[in-house]
Amino acid sequence: MGGIFGAVSKSDITADLFFGIDYHTHLGARRGGMAVYAPETGFQRAIHNIENAPFRTKFGDDMDTMHGNMGIGCISDTDPQPVMVRSHLGSYALTTVGRINNAEALVEDIISKGGHFNEQSGGQLNPTELVASLINQCDTIAEGIRYAQKQIDGSMTLLLMTKEGLYAARDYLGRTPLILGHKEGAYCAAFESFSYMNLGYRYERDLGPGEIVFLTPDSCETLKEPNKKMKICAFLWIYYGYTTSCYEGVNVEVMRNNCGALLARRDKGIDVDYVAGVPESGNGHAIGYANESGIKFARPFIKYTPTWVRSFTPAKQSIRDLTAHMKLIPVEQLIRGKKLLFLDDSVVRGTQMRNTVEFLYNNGAKEVHIRSASPPSMFGCKYLNFSPGKSDMDLIARQVVRDFDGDDRYLKDYCTDNTERYHAMVEQIARRLNFTSLKYHLLADVKTAVGIDPDSLCTYCFTGEE
Ligand code: SF4
Repeated sequence: MGGIFGAVSKSDITADLFFGIDYHTHLGARRGGMAVYAPETGFQRAIHNIENAPFRTKFGDDMDTMHGNMGIGCISDTDPQPVMVRSHLGSYALTTVGRINNAEALVEDIISKGGHFNEQSGGQLNPTELVASLINQCDTIAEGIRYAQKQIDGSMTLLLMTKEGLYAARDYLGRTPLILGHKEGAYCAAFESFSYMNLGYRYERDLGPGEIVFLTPDSCETLKEPNKKMKICAFLWIYYGYTTSCYEGVNVEVMRNNCGALLARRDKGIDVDYVAGVPESGNGHAIGYANESGIKFARPFIKYTPTWVRSFTPAKQSIRDLTAHMKLIPVEQLIRGKKLLFLDDSVVRGTQMRNTVEFLYNNGAKEVHIRSASPPSMFGCKYLNFSPGKSDMDLIARQVVRDFDGDDRYLKDYCTDNTERYHAMVEQIARRLNFTSLKYHLLADVKTAVGIDPDSLCTYCFTGEE
């Protein structure tokens, strides 16, 4: 995934930028970057690898050397950003979050017009550099951003900093959010709305899909009006958005509580000792389920996080497996001899869940029932660089379908939650992963739990419908 944050102020912005970006750490694991601008010192930029140390540790020293009244930055799972650009549109810094499916075709088109690209190691292209090249095809930055939005197959939300101010542009269909905050003499734009609250900014508004604004310390000017059609990612609320954030006015934790409650209403008569969440995102769903069902909420295991960098990725698979195992600490009194019901945000590949359930049985659990707060993941995400959806055949639901039929001819049936094929698939997934029972949330209930116009939600990975 990735997350972006930017701010423009009458005073120095470096501290706001540092903490604003840091609050996006949960969205990415590979690189952090920040760029600032001040008339006296010009553009300054720092990019660090954050795979084995958190953003705060890596950028602490940059806080002392970077100064500016404007800045943008990111947590990125892919390319080093922000990129610095000098073009006929002037000098600017650019940071993006999104996915470009037609990168090769776009690159070929630009090269055929005399453009060029730097290759990263391994022959990879920097997607943010490609976005800059698309922007540079036009006569103004706003036109260029609109051009890039229309050309890109996938999604693209971005922040662009010139010497005059900040451009903030949300993806053409609003798959990812971009939210404005305001305080006296300053504006900010962030993927996560909670990221600016402790910095003194107040919520101003969500940018609409495709909307482009220009921010200065005193003004927010809309350069391109929002589109009517929106397709915001449903998984923002279900899984990867931060608990304290709001998108389109809907808080993540509140949505998860609603989601769990609706699941409980359709799951009457279950006989268990405790309801629990698979940390962290499962907890909000589990609280909703427990409150609605009247079954006690408990935390039968805790993830030990204080010293584990989230992205700690040892080279050896055996050490990676051991690391995942070492993070889980059981509370034996809440597990041994107990019947447990766990809520997780999703069951995607199933590997992690199978290991967790085995861990619970090894610690004496009598029964482990799993409830997924989302419908079966049937299609890889083609709009975001989002880990649950690399390839369709990574998904456990699709593997089961393939094993049943040898091909995908009945796929539509499996995506529909009241068919015999759907129920057979769910039973088979439960058997394979060694769950006592398994139920998935209904898509209609997920939409109700979010509460915005259902047509404005992207649910492609459950239905295959755009
Ligand atoms: S396909 Fe799924 S993960 Fe991707 S944007 Fe749509 S809802 Fe989100």
